[in-house]
Amino acid sequence: MDRTVLVTGASGYIAGFAIQQLLREGWQVRGTIRNLARSDEVRGWLGVNANQLPLFAADLTSDAGWAEAASGCTHMLHIASPIPAAAPKSDDELVVPARDGALRALKAAKAAGVTRVVLTSSTAAVTYGKGQIDRPFTEADWTDETHPDTYAYVRSKTIAERAARDWMQANGAPMEFVTINPGLILGPVLGRDFSTSLEALKKLLEGALPGLPRLGFPVTDVRDVADAHVRALTHPGIDGGRFLVAGEFLWLEDIARILKAELGPKARKVPSIKLPDFLVKLSALFDPTVKMVLPELGRARAVDSSHVQTVLGVRLRPAEETIVDTANSLLETGIVKA
Ligand code: NAP
Repeated sequence: MDRTVLVTGASGYIAGFAIQQLLREGWQVRGTIRNLARSDEVRGWLGVNANQLPLFAADLTSDAGWAEAASGCTHMLHIASPIPAAAPKSDDELVVPARDGALRALKAAKAAGVTRVVLTSSTAAVTYGKGQIDRPFTEADWTDETHPDTYAYVRSKTIAERAARDWMQANGAPMEFVTINPGLILGPVLGRDFSTSLEALKKLLEGALPGLPRLGFPVTDVRDVADAHVRALTHPGIDGGRFLVAGEFLWLEDIARILKAELGPKARKVPSIKLPDFLVKLSALFDPTVKMVLPELGRARAVDSSHVQTVLGVRLRPAEETIVDTANSLLETGIVKA
């Protein structure tokens, strides 16, 4: 039987790499986007035509279009979910589309006879709300979204994954379900509309940060994340599985050092001095982007990604390669002016 996969949020960063890999591997691929007026733009980034990537309009917040998009599909990658650049006014701005959109996608998949859905969750659903833990997080860990160390995006991903798993438990069989839980994603960009997750690196290269706050994250490569999604679609015996995909935890200070060492003059605007916590807290009073990341200040959240490597055979790139490729891509596309 032909394998046809619906990729939701085809305009997104991870989705672009997943679609390209799926097409290379011979899948029939279709996608959803919010606004069909962007179809040519999205296909242009991906270097595909309308036959290779039929697009359907579907919004996470509305029932319209989901049944039509899923009809005839054997598999689904449910990737779409909002990632804000600044703290939203209320949790519902993120929680409602993330949770209700996941349930809409699952219901449409089940009605269409899809055999397996792979949903993009996040380390946000794993590594928060526990205080400081001195061991790497694993797939057995769940974020406690009621803890003050969480924020709206973290809560949206946790609530959405839980709701999806609860729905699958009650209604899913025989459809199978797997989640991929990536860390903060970097990597080359396909177009000028890139994910919010690249903002920190962009700001470093542009010299937009006065110094280096004590912020860090597990560096994760978009190409590895896409690979994990594609493998999870067909790997046998993983129904219900949860796969962390996150590389080495690095502080911004480490990332700045790598940029300066590897990019030379192109990294001349990257700061070298450390920014004390009190200054970061002060600037959060005026800057909503800084306010959103305050719970991350000084927090190292290392993740054990051995499961995805041993079970799915995904090879995670070294963080240094990801950082250098991201920076070069931001410079080559003109997103960052050297
Ligand atoms: P992205 O480029 O911002 O992609 C997000 C996608 O979701 C876009 O296609 C966006 O459509 C779509 N979307 C947002 N709100 C929507 C709505 N109401 N209805 C329909 N579509 C909507 O970000 P990404 O990095 O590829 O993220 C994709 C997934 O990975 C998300 O589930 C995210 O939570 C997860 N994730 C990302 C990271 C990371 O560091 N980037 C890490 C862990 C997990 P528009 O183009 O129309 O806005």
